[in-house]
Amino acid sequence: MKFATELIHGGNPIDPEHGSLSHPVYHTSTFAQRSFDHFGRYDYARSGNPTREALEEAVARLEKGATGLAFASGMAAIASTFLLFRPGDHLVVCEDVYGGTFRALSTLFTGWGLKVSFVDATDLPEIAAAITPETRALYLETPSNPLIKISDLPGCVALARQRGLLTIVDNTFMTPYLQRPLELGCDIVLHSGTKFLNGHSDVICGFAVTATQELGQRLRFIQNAFGAVLGPQDCWLVLRGLKTLKVRLEEGQASARKIVAWLKTQDKVQKIYYPGLPEHPGYEIHQRQASGPGAVLSFELDSYETTKRLLEGVQLAAFAVSLGGVESILSYPAKMSHAAMPPAEREARGIKDTLVRLSVGLEDPEDLIADLERFLK
Ligand SMILES: *Cc1c(COP(=O)(O)O)cnc(C)c1O
Repeated sequence: MKFATELIHGGNPIDPEHGSLSHPVYHTSTFAQRSFDHFGRYDYARSGNPTREALEEAVARLEKGATGLAFASGMAAIASTFLLFRPGDHLVVCEDVYGGTFRALSTLFTGWGLKVSFVDATDLPEIAAAITPETRALYLETPSNPLIKISDLPGCVALARQRGLLTIVDNTFMTPYLQRPLELGCDIVLHSGTKFLNGHSDVICGFAVTATQELGQRLRFIQNAFGAVLGPQDCWLVLRGLKTLKVRLEEGQASARKIVAWLKTQDKVQKIYYPGLPEHPGYEIHQRQASGPGAVLSFELDSYETTKRLLEGVQLAAFAVSLGGVESILSYPAKMSHAAMPPAEREARGIKDTLVRLSVGLEDPEDLIADLERFLK
């Protein structure tokens, strides 16, 4: 099945009992057993729920993985995945990793004994140099946030395999419609399903998809033991949101391209970060490993004043954290995702006070441009 067909029919087998096209929501905490020594497929809903399973299977199929697991948030999926490791193990992590992942690693998991090195993951020799005998995995995001840096996934996989490491990729920005890391040899794909997979800014959820059943079993054990599962009503909302993933991304990406072309003509825009621009340093690598640049871009303005006026005055794009919804969202990394970072370090990493990130939603791009134009003229 092609991707669009998979979205509609993959995780949505027609209910054999009554023919309902929409998957039933099993709002239950437990399942009555038929007999004293013959238990059914489900016993307790933390361990398994049919609505959750339909969603887990749908996401696993889209990512071409063996096992999919749905969690109560992206962070729950990410933190549960870190529980695959033990105190003393070492991870090599991209330096512009999602802020919540940085926080969990640098406080909770280092406190627990995990060792972490943050590296510029666009630089394979730098990754290689950070690997120690204790290293167990590479942890990557491509494109990264908010500077949209590109890591060479096949290059990282080759390095990881040579050293016997797992490759873990947070694929939130691309989704399996545009990039499938497991097909490139990665071992685990993670998602904040809160963003494009659900796509409607109304659910917090996360996913882990593994390349092998063996890894899937280990992670399923953690999911059940740690217990950060997604509830059935939210599973149903995500099953519904997922059906339009392709049309939403195609539309958002087409609008993002138009907005980027327009931003390029604006005097007050000093720099644009978007992997669809041929002058982006990661353009060719991205072209090889993904089928499109996506619907998220960042840009730098000429001054703090312009930035402030834009963020305070913009009407169609919400001024908010998050991304990947049907509504466009404009965020301000210096005061939102990277607020906890000391200003000097933030500047050193290229996250200036004049940088904004735009997640392009489904409004008409001409209206979005007109809205931005009022502040850039
Ligand atoms: C939002 C986000 C997360 C965290 O997901 P939650 O659903 O908010 O817990 C992780 N990674 C990336 C890239 C994100 O954008």
